Amino acid sequence: MFITFEGGDGAGKSTQIRRLAELLREGGHDVRVTFEPGEGDLGAELRRLMQHSGHIHARTEALLFAADRAEHVARIVRPALERGAIVLSDRYLDSSVAYQGAARELGTQEIRDLSLWATDGLLPDLTILFDLDPRIGAARRTGEPDRLEREPLAFHTRVRDNFLAAAAAEPERFVVIDAAREPETIAANVAAVVTARLKA
Ligand code: C5P
Repeated sequence: MFITFEGGDGAGKSTQIRRLAELLREGGHDVRVTFEPGEGDLGAELRRLMQHSGHIHARTEALLFAADRAEHVARIVRPALERGAIVLSDRYLDSSVAYQGAARELGTQEIRDLSLWATDGLLPDLTILFDLDPRIGAARRTGEPDRLEREPLAFHTRVRDNFLAAAAAEPERFVVIDAAREPETIAANVAAVVTARLKA
């Protein structure tokens, strides 16, 4: 089963992925945790470029994300799925559709098509969207400088609105979680959603 975690910067996805992975492993599942961009050489380079340059052309950026995803899927995600693991990915194609397609205004359909081409059509079985007001995300963020500091609030609002639109368009794939709540409450919510899917 392929499960992706999506949401704006500072929504708390990474913490929740770690907790879910622990829970699933305790239950005896083979779990592969991964993330984009950055798992693999190309992704790590892309993350570095995004942090330090900040002036990659929007189309170049979109192509680099797609190239990174092609590598990620071919080398990590598909092999893990084939051996029967549950793959948990911190970001996947919906991030590109939201950031490059909607926020950078390159076209959501075009970016989705590009990503599906890059991955040979791999869509997640389940996508958990951590929905959060970007102003709260900005206040929470403590780590490395990222898009929240470089891009205006309107950029992050477009990201959020697009994620919500994607969830509304594919209700069978998406579950929307209110990420403004306490981490404990969110973890229980995520666990309930995933456990139900595994039984289905
Ligand atoms: O997941 P994380 O918050 O670490 O993402 C790293 C950075 O890459 C974030 O600032 C996010 O906004 C950005 N990003 C992006 N386009 C994507 C995926 C991530 O701009 N497709």
